[in-house]
Amino acid sequence: ASTSASYNRVMLKISGEALMGTQGFGLHPPTVRRIAEEVKAVHDLDVEICMVIGGGNIFRGLSGSAQGMERTTADYMGMLATVMNALAMQSALEDLGVFTRVISAIRMDEVAEPYIRRRAVRHLEKKRVCIFAAGTGNPYFTTDTAATLRANEMACEAIFMGKNGVDGVYDKDPKTNDDAVRYDNVSYDDVLAKRLKVMDASAIALARDNNLPLFVFGLDQPGGFRGVLAGEGTFTKVM
Ligand code: UDP
Repeated sequence: ASTSASYNRVMLKISGEALMGTQGFGLHPPTVRRIAEEVKAVHDLDVEICMVIGGGNIFRGLSGSAQGMERTTADYMGMLATVMNALAMQSALEDLGVFTRVISAIRMDEVAEPYIRRRAVRHLEKKRVCIFAAGTGNPYFTTDTAATLRANEMACEAIFMGKNGVDGVYDKDPKTNDDAVRYDNVSYDDVLAKRLKVMDASAIALARDNNLPLFVFGLDQPGGFRGVLAGEGTFTKVM
């Protein structure tokens, strides 16, 4: 697979769990900083960067509702968790001298800007990293869908999905199958038909229908996000 282009504007999606380091929960500041450094390395190339961070390191709506909580309330709690992660990333990036905006899909004007598309585009043009928080603002969605939606709205050229402990898309779970094979390239249709674990189906459909390529890579590889952007290292391209 090749990233085969020099990008002007990209979406980086990471799960909340990527921020918890070796802990089982929450935020691990050195890990947040390490990811911020990877983002800075790409920002230094003058690439305009959108980010969406999940909330699974703090709260997932589905697990809340499995424990008897009302689903939509639990989902709002999950969305609030993504705001905490976004603020942690903002703090780490600004500590490195990268200007950022946290833009929330749920209004909370004291801590984040509301989402106004044209304003967000302007921030990107001014080379501010836009961290889109609170998912889509709607229950029953995921931050994968939020990343795909914002990537389309912001006219990103691709989504880069940084994973923890896995460096691409496999034909079966590589953690439990020694003979799992990583795809270099795979189509969105195959991802859906074979039910490959990449993103949820609504996010995949939204990316596929808008011809948005997705690169799945491991956050722990030597060349990091910048390497993957240059076509180095291991990753899977989904198109
Ligand atoms: N969530 C939601 N709507 C959205 C995005 C997220 O309701 O548009 C909630 C949902 O409950 C989800 C939680 O926020 O479980 C955390 O997001 P996600 O599971 O996508 O985080 P990740 O797995 O990427 O860390």
